[in-house]
Amino acid sequence: MYRLMTKTIYIDEQHCPLCGLKNACSGKTGDCWCFHTKIPAELIKRIPEEMRGKVCICRTCVIASEEN
Ligand SMILES: [Zn+2]
Ligand SMILES: [Zn+2]
Repeated sequence: MYRLMTKTIYIDEQHCPLCGLKNACSGKTGDCWCFHTKIPAELIKRIPEEMRGKVCICRTCVIASEEN
């Protein structure tokens, strides 16, 4: 049996870790819409641990979670 446990996690700051679309984050400039938005804890739980605090969720995902 082969076990492929080595999963390389590629951190892409340009894309939302949840839906894979462009997150339109401008965190590198020091100011981004996401700094002023409260991201629901439930949504943060769905982000892979390695990516938390590094990659922004896109606005669409935040809005979608608020509607539920
Ligand atoms: Zn998204
Ligand atoms: Zn951001």
